[in-house]
Amino acid sequence: MKDILSYIQKRRKWLKYKMIKCFILLGPPGSGKGTQANKIIKKFNFLYLSTGDILRNAEKYDENIRNILKKGKLIPDSLIIKLITEYIKKNNIENGILFDGFPRTINQAKTLDLILSKNNAKISIIFIISLNLKETILRIKSRRVCSICGTNYSIEHNKSTDKCKICHGKLFQRNDDENEKVIINRFLIYEKQIKPILLYYKKSNFLVNINGLEKEEEIFKQITKNIIKRN
Ligand code: ATP
Ligand code: MG
Repeated sequence: MKDILSYIQKRRKWLKYKMIKCFILLGPPGSGKGTQANKIIKKFNFLYLSTGDILRNAEKYDENIRNILKKGKLIPDSLIIKLITEYIKKNNIENGILFDGFPRTINQAKTLDLILSKNNAKISIIFIISLNLKETILRIKSRRVCSICGTNYSIEHNKSTDKCKICHGKLFQRNDDENEKVIINRFLIYEKQIKPILLYYKKSNFLVNINGLEKEEEIFKQITKNIIKRN
C-alpha cells in the first residue's frame, strides 16, 4: 500500500514538472507587448502566439476581418477561438507558449482554460503592462513595422529609419495606427475589457504588473526574472 501511495505521489510530481507552461502579455496598444515578446521567445524558445499578428495575416484574405481591424474593434470570440485552436494544433508547444493580446474577453479566458487542460498545459504568469493614453497615442503614431520580420520601430527615436536594421525590409505604418480616433478607440476598448479579465484571474497567483513607461531593457529584466522564478 505504502509503495502504491509513494508511486502515485512521485507520478503526480513528475506530471506537474512536465506540465507545459504558458505565459501571457496583456496591455494597451503600444505598451511594448510585441517588442518584449520577441526578446522573450529568443531567450526561452517558447511558441509565440500573437492574435494581432494572426489577424493581420488573415485580413489579407478576409474583408470582414480587415474592416474590424481598421476600426480598432474586437474580432468576435468564435473566430478568435477557432484561429487559436488551429494554431495550437499545428505548432509544437512543448517548450512552453507565449500569448500576446489573448485572452481579451471572459469567454476567451474560459476557452483558454479548456484548451490548456486538454494539452497538459497551465498558465504560469499573466504580465499586465500599463501605459497611459497620452503615451499610447505618441508611441502608436510614430510606430513603423518591418514588412518582412515584423520588428517595430519608432520614427521619434530613429528619425532616419526607412528600412529595417535587422533584415533591411521596408517599414510601413499599420492601417489601425494611422488614425488618432482609432488609436483612442483601441485604448478605451482595452481599458474596458481588462477589468473583467483582472477579476477573473484575481484569485489566482498569475498576475504580475509591469510599468510600461520603464525602459525596454528594464522591463525585459523584470519579465525574465519572473519567468525564471516560475518556469
Ligand atoms: P499593439 O499596439 O501592441 O499591437 P493592440 O492591442 O492594438 O496592441 P494587437 O494585439 O496587435 O493590437 O491587436 C490588433 C487588433 O486585432 C485589435 O485591435 C483587435 O481588433 C484584434 N484582436 C487582437 N487580439 C484579439 C482578441 N484576442 N480578441 C479579439 N480581437 C483581437
Ligand atoms: Mg502587438
